[in-house]
Order: sequence, then C-alpha cells, then structure tokens
Amino acid sequence: MNVNAVMITALAVDQINHSTQERRNMAKLYFYYSAMNAGKSTVLLQSSYNYKERGMDTLLFTPAVDSRFASGKIHSRIGLHADAISFNNSFDLFKYAESEKRNNLKLQCVLVDEAQFLTKSQVIQLTDIVDKLNVPVLTYGLRSDFCGEPFEGSMYLLILADDLIEIKTICHCGKKAIMNARFDSEGRVVKTGEQIQIGGNETYTPMCRKHFNKALNKS
Ligand SMILES: [Zn+2]
Repeated sequence: MNVNAVMITALAVDQINHSTQERRNMAKLYFYYSAMNAGKSTVLLQSSYNYKERGMDTLLFTPAVDSRFASGKIHSRIGLHADAISFNNSFDLFKYAESEKRNNLKLQCVLVDEAQFLTKSQVIQLTDIVDKLNVPVLTYGLRSDFCGEPFEGSMYLLILADDLIEIKTICHCGKKAIMNARFDSEGRVVKTGEQIQIGGNETYTPMCRKHFNKALNKS
C-alpha cells in the first residue's frame, strides 16, 4: 500500500467516525484543501458513500466551470463518479439545501467539489447550511491558483471553516506539493492568464514551493 492509499484509508476511517459523531454534535464546515491531483474527488466520493452505506442521504454540488466532464457529475481520477447538482456564481446553495432538507429528513451531509470556485456569498451560504440547518458541509478544493494567488472560495473557506484538513501529495522531488503549476499544450509553464481556464488544453502539476518558484523563474 503506498503513502497516498494509506492517507485515503485514514481519511475514510475518519469520515466513518465523522458521520456518527455528527449526529451527537453540532454540525461543522470542513475544508479539505490540497494541490492538484491529490485525490480530493476520490475522498469526497468515499465520504458520500460512507454516509449512504449507513442509510443517510448526501447532497453533492459541483461548479459549472469544470468543463472536463458532463455538467452535474463528479469524477475522480481513479474512475469513481457520482451525479451532482451543478452550480454557477448566482446559484443559492443554502436555498437549495434548505428545500432538499425539508423534503428529505435523511439528508445528513452536503459535499462540494472544486470549492475554490465558490464566491464569498456562496461560502457564507454554506455556513448557513451548517448553522441554521445543522447539516455538516464538506468542501474540497485548491488553496492557490497557477500564479500562487488565492481563489475567492478557498480564501473564505480558510477563514470560515471550522476544520481545515490537508490532503497531501508530493512534488517530483519528494517534498510535499503545495503549489500548482499550469502548463500549455506544448508543455511550457504558463505565468499569466485567467484564473479559470474554460475548455483549454492546459495541464497542472503539483509542486513544492521551491520548484514552483523555479518553474516560474521567481528564484
Ligand atoms: Zn519540489
């Protein structure tokens, strides 16, 4: 079993405990953050499965900006997938969850993929799901973009989440990767551009700070 598998197993166990604890305790807002390709969607889908296995329903959200896959689906790189509600910037996550909760008492957890794309208002809506509906919200996203700048959603999650949990992955040098370098279709590092690239052929590589700075000629 490799390091990542051990970490994912540990997280899965954590999530199993999580669901039973939540019924006793007050709900919380969780932010699972990492660099690219660390397995965030895998952990999200595993957590959702853990709830469902215990007869509890979950509500999954995914941003409409993720154009890699059909809208309204969460895919993980290891082949797992699930249907999800797709949202844009003007979508009210609290209103949607409130109406779902009213119609379904078994709804026990809300999960958000690519949470870096949330707006500040939507992060506040998630805090309302936790504080007013007493439903735990698990969000998964990147901390920073390809320029090393914060995403709006992640910035407010880092401020407002009750618990911050890092999902770790490594740089090619073996050190923990905390940054995300963007490469164009010819393999050249991209240094400027839009934070959200829709339909592009770019790829991302998780890197440690030192190698990210080297790639961007910052040091
Ligand atoms: Zn490195």
